Amino acid sequence: MSDDPETARQIEELVADDRPLLVLDVDDVLLEFIRPFPNFLKARGYDLTLASFRLTGNIAETASGRLIEQPEVTALLGDFFDAQADWQCITEGAAEALAGLGDRAEIILLTAMPHRHRAVRRAHLDALGMNYPLLTTEMAKGPAVAKLRGKANRPVVFVDDQPRNLASVRESVADAELIHLMADTSLRAFLPPVPDDVAVVQDWHEAAPKIAVALGL
Ligand SMILES: [Mg+2]
Repeated sequence: MSDDPETARQIEELVADDRPLLVLDVDDVLLEFIRPFPNFLKARGYDLTLASFRLTGNIAETASGRLIEQPEVTALLGDFFDAQADWQCITEGAAEALAGLGDRAEIILLTAMPHRHRAVRRAHLDALGMNYPLLTTEMAKGPAVAKLRGKANRPVVFVDDQPRNLASVRESVADAELIHLMADTSLRAFLPPVPDDVAVVQDWHEAAPKIAVALGL
């Protein structure tokens, strides 16, 4: 069961499906995030200097140099997600990789963002031709993926850029194929080595055949 009641409700709305399951993160997997976000910040009078794999502590007010606190970061992220259609484009190779799977897999987008942004993201994805079901969660992703899989023992592949989300899915779905994909691989330098049971790919071109094999296609 998803621990987030709203995510669980969204999952209940999906049509039952027993095809192999591919669950994708959105920010920095399907859509660019860390490349456009600094441009958004600049337009608002802030600078992002990535010195670690986190936003808080790395964003400064351009005018004063003051590092902004967590609540201000959260507010800016909210504004960015409201305006995402102006900033976020599809990660290179993603659309072709997903089209290549055709209807042989159930593809679900699982984004960790406040539920209130779901409609804006849905509209943006639709405009980009990414009509796959979109779920939001404000809690750990693992339980949501387990609920998505359902009772059928179908293959599951989960793709995310955040190590903690990969770990959460490993905890809830022991036999899921986990793929670590980052739209901007330069951020890898800030991360600890990924566990052996996670497949690391450099881009969607490398991810596509791995996904197909793991789904049994
Ligand atoms: Mg992400």
